[in-house]
Amino acid sequence: MKFEINCRDSKSKARGGVFFTEHGRVATPAFFPVATQAAVKGVSAQDLRMIDVSGLLVNAYHLFLRPGVEIIKQAGGLHKFMNFDRPIITDSGGYQVFSLANLRKVSDRGVLFNSHIDGAQHFLTPADIMDIQINLGADIIVPLDECVKANTSKEKMKIATERTVKWARVSNKIFNCRKLHNRYFWPIIQGGTSLDYRKYCLAALEELNIDGLAIGGLSVGENHKQRQEILAMIAQEANPKYVRYFMGHGKPDEIVEAVACGVDMFDCILPTRLGRTGTAFTDEGKVVIRNSVYARDFKPLDSNCNCPVCTNYTRAYLRHLINVKEMLGSQLLTYHNIWWYNQLMSRIRKALKNNAFSEFKGSFLEKYRCSQNNEVVDDS
Ligand SMILES: [Zn+2]
Repeated sequence: MKFEINCRDSKSKARGGVFFTEHGRVATPAFFPVATQAAVKGVSAQDLRMIDVSGLLVNAYHLFLRPGVEIIKQAGGLHKFMNFDRPIITDSGGYQVFSLANLRKVSDRGVLFNSHIDGAQHFLTPADIMDIQINLGADIIVPLDECVKANTSKEKMKIATERTVKWARVSNKIFNCRKLHNRYFWPIIQGGTSLDYRKYCLAALEELNIDGLAIGGLSVGENHKQRQEILAMIAQEANPKYVRYFMGHGKPDEIVEAVACGVDMFDCILPTRLGRTGTAFTDEGKVVIRNSVYARDFKPLDSNCNCPVCTNYTRAYLRHLINVKEMLGSQLLTYHNIWWYNQLMSRIRKALKNNAFSEFKGSFLEKYRCSQNNEVVDDS
């Protein structure tokens, strides 16, 4: 994978660059919205293009269960099936198997689980997980990993880390044998909260034929300090030539902090999940539109935002839509949130280009964190 680093912040580990895929270039740091079931909930592919999203994360686990890989393969792959022509990363399903499915057994051979939809039993090996993602046609593929909670015992953490490395090795062999063109392999750094296991995992993954590094097993109960230490270690130890992708992490202030630790890419359900339920992101913090204070507020959702939602609708109207559960309300708030996240990443990249990232970080965090005063919901 061609990945060019064009600028580095002089006061932090932040870096700006671009990586290239068959479905277009991605300027970094980048944010990929989540299309769990091959759709970003409430937002069409045309809208995503209009917002100019960099790419999408799609969940292999969900598509494996429904509609099934064969249908998507027959449609010509995920991009054609979804009518989305930008880069797509599929996750291994590991996280979903551990969090969503009724997990029966994990062994070095693979995972035995019951579907969360109909209870049907499935057994998937690391090789199956590779086949699923290859057949879906994702640009970026991640091997099966074992994700453990932050409070897991050291012993279990060690077993999961070693298993993740073992599975990455097997998966990499399959990836290499298939000689896939313009497809990229990004294994996942696990190791729980142990810096030693994380280091061991990172070193073992870098011995493989890889194109990027995913950072997994975070946002699963660890505290802020532990997370920062792990990111700092990765920034220090990882070969800078690999894109660093922080999986499933995406509070705006934490994105800015992680960029300062050298992270290049993010995905998260937050902008869509919160948008759907009536919360909008702005530089002044979150706006919980159900609050009664917005009942007669005829200003835009975010006065500094140029998105079609903020240029065409008022807070009072959006509040009404969410309160009466009109689906348009969820769609409009989600649209604004994805737009706002995209703008945030673009502002980060611009600051990096101008060697002004640390100043941007300081002023953004101050404004965003000082304004978290809007959490009270009054449904009246
Ligand atoms: Zn907006």
